Amino acid sequence: MQDSLTFTQSALKVLEKLNSRGYDAYIVGGAVRDAILGIPLSDIDVATNATTEQMKVVFSGDKVFETGVKHGTLTVISDGEKFEITTFRNDGDYSDARHPDSVKFISDVKGDLARRDFTINAMAYSPSTGVIDLFGGKEDLEKGVIKAVGDPEKRFDEDGLRILRAVRFASKLGFEIEKNTLDGMKKCIANLFTISAERVFVELTGILCGAHRYFALHEYSFFVFAAVPEIQPEYGCDQMNRAHCYDVYEHTLHALEVCREVTPVIAWALLLHDSGKPFSIVYGKDCQRHFPDHWSVSRDIAEKVLSRLKAPNEFRREVKFLAFYHDDYFYGGKPTMKRFLRDYGEKFMLDLCVVKEADWLAHSGFGVEKYRKFFNEFRDDLNYVLASGECYTIGDLAVDGEDVKELGFSGKKVGEILSDVLDKVIDYELENEKTELIGYIKEKWSED
Ligand code: ATP
Ligand code: MG
Repeated sequence: MQDSLTFTQSALKVLEKLNSRGYDAYIVGGAVRDAILGIPLSDIDVATNATTEQMKVVFSGDKVFETGVKHGTLTVISDGEKFEITTFRNDGDYSDARHPDSVKFISDVKGDLARRDFTINAMAYSPSTGVIDLFGGKEDLEKGVIKAVGDPEKRFDEDGLRILRAVRFASKLGFEIEKNTLDGMKKCIANLFTISAERVFVELTGILCGAHRYFALHEYSFFVFAAVPEIQPEYGCDQMNRAHCYDVYEHTLHALEVCREVTPVIAWALLLHDSGKPFSIVYGKDCQRHFPDHWSVSRDIAEKVLSRLKAPNEFRREVKFLAFYHDDYFYGGKPTMKRFLRDYGEKFMLDLCVVKEADWLAHSGFGVEKYRKFFNEFRDDLNYVLASGECYTIGDLAVDGEDVKELGFSGKKVGEILSDVLDKVIDYELENEKTELIGYIKEKWSED
């Protein structure tokens, strides 16, 4: 690991601008961590001894947003890149395990690094000083360890969100959580319930989407279950079915692991897709367990979990229906596919394809040919309909409301007729061609 790190010209320019007015300035936190690791940076935070008022003068030629003046933060857009610039600060006491009662602005970067959560996140960098590493962050990066800065119990007692942040970094980096830090997290687990739902949702989403999600969800399931108790019954829930070689939780983790495209929606859908299974167990004549209608229970659990975590409405809706349809075999072929596209849209169906694939890939080898065949048919029908441009919405019909009105219909009838025509087109009974559709409407609807 080198002492001179590479950052964009615009990041270095932000530091220079502050330096040229006599202020100290460093890139801090995650950007230093990721630059040392040589992985892409998600955002760049800068810390300085300038106050927000002084920053405004320094960046008078740039776009500046007052994103957190109370905490000493301004957002500056420099050369099209976004930087959060914060005055060095020391957090005061925490009485609610989340928000410092006060923040004290300080003149030295050392105190600012001491308030940060983990050693790997508590380094600062400037071209003139190189990496400032007061807590062994570089060594912990080399060892692959997440370790609290200072006394773990005190740090997690101050802010319960750090518990989920530790698991999120384990998922992002594949690092183990150091033993005392892990003990501190467990002791302070009740602080999770003092955190706002939105923030818990963001951290959990990060855990589910990290490159090392299998590892983090497997090793640190305790914390995930505390945040989402609805999935704990999956743990150790033996499927006792030849199509499965894992219990429900392990199956879920494998599905997440093999998933080829993990977006937040897809990750949550996979986490929750089988959450209804432990509540749907029946024994078949084949002496195996079956889980009839578990998808409805999973859908309801998804709604409960995501509404508690205040996930956005559209997000909730999509996850719910992905959970509900993950096991649906779409026996109706292309017409069924088109009806789903009509009702749920293209994005949903492409996401469902990803969910279904990850699900069957996490089954045992038993019956694998059958699952592969079902999945391939689904994927091929979906790709065919999308590539062919076949009509599946009223808006894509070769006739519209005006055409129907010209034939003498009005009011609700117009919509009814267009729906009927769309059904016939979807079922390949009519071609989506204007003369044919008009002829059909005249013949079928004029008699009514
Ligand atoms: P990411 O790559 O996800 O952005 P990050 O480390 O940059 O990771 P941020 O949430 O952007 O994480 O926070 C920036 C920095 O602020 C962290 O690296 C850490 O130093 C500090 N920090 C953020 N949240 C906390 C917290 N709850 N307690 C202590 N320090 C924190
Ligand atoms: Mg960051």
